[in-house]
Amino acid sequence: MKKNDAKTEEIKKKLEQSKQEIKEELEKFKESLDFGDETDHMEEESDESEEMGTYMGIKKLQDARLEAIDRALAKIENGTYGFCERCGKPIEKEILDIDPESALCKNCKHGGGA
Ligand SMILES: [Zn+2]
Repeated sequence: MKKNDAKTEEIKKKLEQSKQEIKEELEKFKESLDFGDETDHMEEESDESEEMGTYMGIKKLQDARLEAIDRALAKIENGTYGFCERCGKPIEKEILDIDPESALCKNCKHGGGA
């Protein structure tokens, strides 16, 4: 079996890095919200739950990204990285450059019919 080449190692590093960044972003955002224990001011409560909702929304998005990254990393391990999950064709380099965790090629990503 072919060992990962330099390019793959680079992608792997990139993916690990964005994983780290997403986690840090999420952590920072959580801190900035500061849903403290001091819920003595009632009028702020609605704001807080709104912020909580925003946080949950962002967390959901970030979780989905983390999952995509983990999937991409797993594919690097088993040697199927860079191939479209839908049509099996190699994913365009331009797509992987912008979105290294992408599981779909340009055509499938934009909902192009097979
Ligand atoms: Zn495709």
